[in-house]
Amino acid sequence: MKYFKPDFELDHFSKMDANWLEHHRVKTIFSDLDSTLAIHDEPGGDDLRTWIQMLKNHQVKLVIASNNSQGRVDRFCQPFGIIGFGKCAKPAPYKLRKHMDAIGASKDTSVFLGDQLFTDVWCGKLLNIRTVLVKPIGKEHEPIQIVLKRKLETIVKNRW
Ligand SMILES: [Mg+2]
Repeated sequence: MKYFKPDFELDHFSKMDANWLEHHRVKTIFSDLDSTLAIHDEPGGDDLRTWIQMLKNHQVKLVIASNNSQGRVDRFCQPFGIIGFGKCAKPAPYKLRKHMDAIGASKDTSVFLGDQLFTDVWCGKLLNIRTVLVKPIGKEHEPIQIVLKRKLETIVKNRW
């Protein structure tokens, strides 16, 4: 069960601050959207805006990788001027691997950020990049299939 263990566990995306990113030599962040950067199906808040500005100031690229629809991803990304892929079919790595190659992102300087083990962390492992697990934002807004998956996650986590 160690397979699913992320490289880093943080409370919130904002813990990946300028020092953290520099220390871990992160240049590209592939990130899940729902429950990782915002409440499920809601826009990002001021804390996210501040964080994205910090990333831009430090030339760290943020790429959204979501299993939600492209419409949801586009609506979310537009106000922040960032790019994102919907319908990624995580944990399948293919769509993201293609994009990693296209933008020339190095495995050594990329991380995958997300709130779920069986989609986000697994996808990062399949891409062979480091993984960051954060606590879900706005858990009570999640659809039932995600609530059920969280129960499975708890079983796996208890075996680390
Ligand atoms: Mg999520």
